[in-house]
This record gives sequence, C-alpha cells and structure tokens, in this order.
Amino acid sequence: MDIHEYQAKELLASHGIRLPRGGLAYSPEQAAYRASEIGGNGWVVKAQIHSGARGKAGGVILCNDEKDVEAAADKLLGRRLATQQTDPAGKLISRIYIEETVPIGRELYLGFVLDRSAERIMIVASSSGGMEIEEIAERVPDSIVRAIVDPGLGMQDFQAREIAFGLGLDGALIGKAVETLIGCYRVFRDFDASMLEINPLVVSHDELIALDCKMSFDENALFRRAEISELRDKSQEDPRETFASDRGLSYVGLDGNIGCIINGAGLAMATLDMIKIAGGEPANFLDIGGGASPERVAKSFRAVLADEKVQVILVNIFAGINRCDWVAEGVVKALEEVGVEIPLIVRLSGTKVEEGKAILREKAPRVVVADTLAEAAEAAVRAWKTTAANAA
Ligand code: GDP
Ligand code: MN
Repeated sequence: MDIHEYQAKELLASHGIRLPRGGLAYSPEQAAYRASEIGGNGWVVKAQIHSGARGKAGGVILCNDEKDVEAAADKLLGRRLATQQTDPAGKLISRIYIEETVPIGRELYLGFVLDRSAERIMIVASSSGGMEIEEIAERVPDSIVRAIVDPGLGMQDFQAREIAFGLGLDGALIGKAVETLIGCYRVFRDFDASMLEINPLVVSHDELIALDCKMSFDENALFRRAEISELRDKSQEDPRETFASDRGLSYVGLDGNIGCIINGAGLAMATLDMIKIAGGEPANFLDIGGGASPERVAKSFRAVLADEKVQVILVNIFAGINRCDWVAEGVVKALEEVGVEIPLIVRLSGTKVEEGKAILREKAPRVVVADTLAEAAEAAVRAWKTTAANAA
C-alpha cells in the first residue's frame, strides 16, 4: 500500500527528521493561505498523487509569491497527472502540499527496502540524488553505497557513519546524517514499511533536509497498523484491485476482456499465457488461493464482473487438497448468487474431476466444460470473438 508524500513526511517528522515547513491544501484559496502561514518568499506547490517523477511531469511548481501559489494550485487541483510511473491516464490530484523552498547545497539519495531473500533491510544511498535510482545505477554506479541491517539487531551507529562517509559528508553533517538514518530506519521498522525513499535528501547550509519522501507498506501487516491503514487513499488505486483486496483476493487488473478465476499464482500465469497464445487478452490476474470455498468463488466472480470490460469468464482450478466436486458446487452457487450473464468456461483438473464435471453438466448446463487448459483458453477466445462480432 502506498501513501502520499505529506503523510510520509508526517511519519518522518515524528522520528526527528528535518523537513521543510509545509501545509496541505484542497483549494487555491487554501493554498495561498498556507503559503502566508508558512511565511518567507518562496514556495513549492506539489501534486499529491501516488507516484514519483512528478517534477518532470509538471506536478511540482516553484512559486515566488502568493498569487503564483494560488495559480499553481488552480492549475493542478482536479486534474489528472500522468508521470513515467503511472499509466497514460494518470492519477487525480485532489490535494496539494505547499512547502517553503529550501536552498539546496547538494542533492543526495536515500532508500530503504526490504530484501526478502536476505530477510534483512537494505539501505541504498548515493551522493547523486535528484534522479531516479535506476538512472543513478546506470550513470554513476560508483556513487552508490549500501548497508544491510539485521532487524534483530537494529541499525548500528557505525553503519550509519559508514554511509555518511560514503556520501562524502563531513563535520557536523556526519552526526546529522546518523540521526537521519537511524530515524528513517525506525520509521521503516516501526510501521512495517516495505519501501522508504527520500529523493532528494538535501544538504542545506549545515542541515540535512528531506525534500521528498515516498513510502509503501506491507499489506500483510496492515491488520496491526491501524494508524497506517487510515492513510490509505483508495482514489489513487485501481478500483478493481481495491475491490478485490478488500475481499482478501490476490488480483491484478489487466487490459483485456477475458476475466480469469484461478487457484494458484503459477497456474494463473500459465493460464494468461495460454489465453495470449490462443489470440485473446486477459482482463486480470486473479488467484483465489488454496481453499477455493464456494464463498471465495462467489467473491471472485463479483471482483471479475466489477470490470466492465470483461466479456467472458474462464475458471481454471486444479484440485490437489481441494476437490473438484466442491469447486463445481461453488461455481453453481456463485452463478445462482451473483448472476453471470456472459459466457463461462470452466476447466477442472485433479481430485474428483469426473464428479465435478457431472455437477456442472447437470446444474449449470450453460457452462462450457473444458478438459485441458489449451481447450479452455481456445473456448474462451472463441466465445469472446463471437461476443465481439455480435456487438459489432
Ligand atoms: P518527484 O519529481 O515526484 O520526485 O518530486 P520531488 O519532490 O523530488 O521534486 C522534484 C524536484 O523539484 C526535486 O528534485 C528538486 O530539484 C525540486 N524541488 C523540490 N522542492 C524544492 C525546493 O524547496 N527548492 C528547490 N530549489 N527545488 C525543489
Ligand atoms: Mn523526488
């Protein structure tokens, strides 16, 4: 789960990290009022969307007076901003953050990520901030310093000092860098973050200031972080994915018309490939998981049907621990409860497969029952082409 920059900055502030003075606004008048509250004679107006690379897309505007601030807010609010990191439609700007400008000496990069294979927190820093980490890695790889922190031990002062030296900092800035790094580590760990990025972290006179911040959180830990769940802004998410994740389903929205309900991520990937080979385009990736109870099957149908583009549904279940006859009953129940008007292809395999197919033939005769995955994919694509031809 992603949060907005201003929300991430509040978390950083609670752990002693230095930030520019700033305030949130929902209207141009409020933006101008915020600027006068903050004071000074330079402000930056920043679009709050769940994406980086806003600067290059026109989402970060430098202003010299309150009139400029009001005009910048008017330009951004209510518009969609597309960046290199969003899809072409972009994301709606419904709030903006106004900050005092800060004189920039040097721009640094600081990132914390979860290294799942090492089961550690990986810290990546660079003396060449301001550009994306991928670009830093390509253009100035030697500027990158890394550290790995064992969460059992926590981040040690010597690790923070090593990073500070690696960034070429000296004098009083070393101590400030250590405070910043340890503070960020605590924010990352205490809130179950999966990513924390400060880019740029700037040297301003003899201070280190976080000019920008991006954070993501581990959704599996949200149940114990109510204060983080509260920061969720569903308007920034794909509504299809929000609907599914609210119901505990693993779902990724795609651009095609064939809706998929599958158990197991590997089988789901294989099914998407088979649909493509058969000449179709999947509308989603949906893994209903191991159990595939009638309730979960019904929820999955609802999630897939919530996408208006879906014209055909393909269900592909391999029953290992599960049983095909139970899954078939689940499909029948889902059809009764949800009401599926569009073509439905079901391929069952594994335990009690014949019983499962018999149930479908008897209780849901309009379902196309396929024996193999290839057959199922081809039947789905055929049904989709027929629907498309009828519509035209
Ligand atoms: P991003 O493009 O989404 O990563 O947004 P950032 O918050 O990083 O802003 C983009 C760029 O705007 C930064 O890299 C800075 O160069 C510039 N910028 C942001 N805030 C200030 C500021 O207070 N003063 C100055 N001079 N530049 C700023
Ligand atoms: Mn940035």
